[in-house]
Amino acid sequence: MSKSLVIDHFAPDAVMRGLLDGEDFRNRVPGTTVYTCPRCAHRIRFRWRSFYQADGRSHLQRKLRHIFDDLTPELRAATQSFIDFHCPTCQAPTRIIFSIHEGGNISLHFDIYAVLVGEGMSR
Ligand SMILES: [Zn+2]
Repeated sequence: MSKSLVIDHFAPDAVMRGLLDGEDFRNRVPGTTVYTCPRCAHRIRFRWRSFYQADGRSHLQRKLRHIFDDLTPELRAATQSFIDFHCPTCQAPTRIIFSIHEGGNISLHFDIYAVLVGEGMSR
């Protein structure tokens, strides 16, 4: 018995507020950005540090993680990582996929590629 799993793909600016666009980048994480769960509207504030500290570890169960991995593309010409979590309100499994760019003399830049969101529990 396998239960069907719906995972939707969201453009960064559909679910995250405050991302920056520039001449040669899109959807760049500023000091802080607010993510809104598309299933239940729960908001989570992410800081630049959250992306800096992301290390590819996942809080999702293995089976779910593999499904998300299959849906995560290899981004061209970029180092990439992701942040996995369950929405604290509706439990929707969520993956924020982003690329990592050297930022000159100061730091790194993180550009959001997409957000994958599974089903929440309150449907
Ligand atoms: Zn939610």
